[in-house]
Amino acid sequence: MNVSILEERKGSIANKRGKGVSCERESVSGSVSQRACVYCGARVVLNPITDAYHIVHGPIGCASYTWDIRGSLTSGEDTYRNSFSTDLRETDIVFGGAKKLTAAIDELMEKADPRPKLIFVYATCIVGVIGDDVEAVCRMTEQKYGIRCIAVKAPGFSGTKSQGYKLACDAIMTLIAPHKNQAKQFGVNIIGDYNLSGEMWIIKGYLAQIGIPVISTITGDSSYGKLIQAPSATLNIVQCAGSSVYLAERMQEEMDVPYIKVSFFGIEDTTSSLLRIADALGVPELSQSARAFAKKKTAEVLPIIEKYKPYLKGKKAAIFVGGGFKAISLIRQFNELGMKTVVVGTQTGKKDEYEIIGSIVDEDTIVLDDANPAELERFMIEKQADILVGGVKERPLAYKLGVAFCDHNHERKHPLAGFAGIENFVREVHLSINSPVWQYVKGGAA
Ligand code: SF4
Repeated sequence: MNVSILEERKGSIANKRGKGVSCERESVSGSVSQRACVYCGARVVLNPITDAYHIVHGPIGCASYTWDIRGSLTSGEDTYRNSFSTDLRETDIVFGGAKKLTAAIDELMEKADPRPKLIFVYATCIVGVIGDDVEAVCRMTEQKYGIRCIAVKAPGFSGTKSQGYKLACDAIMTLIAPHKNQAKQFGVNIIGDYNLSGEMWIIKGYLAQIGIPVISTITGDSSYGKLIQAPSATLNIVQCAGSSVYLAERMQEEMDVPYIKVSFFGIEDTTSSLLRIADALGVPELSQSARAFAKKKTAEVLPIIEKYKPYLKGKKAAIFVGGGFKAISLIRQFNELGMKTVVVGTQTGKKDEYEIIGSIVDEDTIVLDDANPAELERFMIEKQADILVGGVKERPLAYKLGVAFCDHNHERKHPLAGFAGIENFVREVHLSINSPVWQYVKGGAA
């Protein structure tokens, strides 16, 4: 496959340790970016709030695109797994859709069980064009029913997926700000973890064993009642920095809750994150406890890595994920396995994250921001990748080329975080790369 790179995309692709790679900019028109839209960015952050109702004010396609979008698990209600839409049609576009939105909310308040305490109303592309006053409808809903109803004005065309993350963080701030003066309590909020396959429960379990209480989680397995306790925490730990560091910064500034960034993928990052959380809390006993815990867990997991290493050593990986921090952790995990990362890219990586990526990959590794399918396919072939790590949109690209695939996104079916996740990750990479199926398809599509 000989795909030429669009002229406007050349600055977003680099080798030489990703030096000077252009990022944090809007996608190039016509380049069929792998990125999701602004609205989708907002929805993925807010969707896991288990007892929230999500009304998508727009055509039905926007709602179906993001229905049950994350594999977030719940220990409480499962309202969030439904999707509600005003299903805007041509006449609504011509005459306005605000009345239809009010009617949808009234119907929800009348029929929904359990009765809504919290509603998010998303304004998608066409509403951004026709200009319905969604905020006024939300305000009236709050007055009429005495519940929280928050507008998320997120037309897909209005920026990048990162803009959607920011809008979601603003919506969370709108929700919790009235509760910012409550008394502080010792413990952390886990931010930017969406409890995919129960990963957040694993991390919560580790913190409990070390002796660190968790006050609130944003937004995996969260609820309205738990979210509003978040301002009382001593420390925010931010797992997915791409989606949530803005929220952590606002909470630090407006609620006096400091934050640290963490990552729970791989031995190195999981260990370092647990130690840094304990150190940041400033209690020496917790630091000792975290060290002992990480040492014990590492000793348990090292033999598993050694078992699979002979099958994986020397293999080549391509990575295309949402944020830079996850990409960094994955490169380190592949290094631990004796594998080389030959292509690495993200949807929303930031300059400082690309600098870290550059410091841990080889000179000839391709680093690319906001890639399109043609670029990913070209570099996977050129670099002879043995596996692609990505999400649902990347899976068919790999299979089409006869390349193994590991889902590290919303649809993953088993936890990949923490020490427990390391075994699942290593086994999945091994089973996929060394599956006999590739000998029958390799080269067929290329
Ligand atoms: S908000 Fe716009 S880009 Fe996003 S799904 Fe809806 S129509 Fe598509």
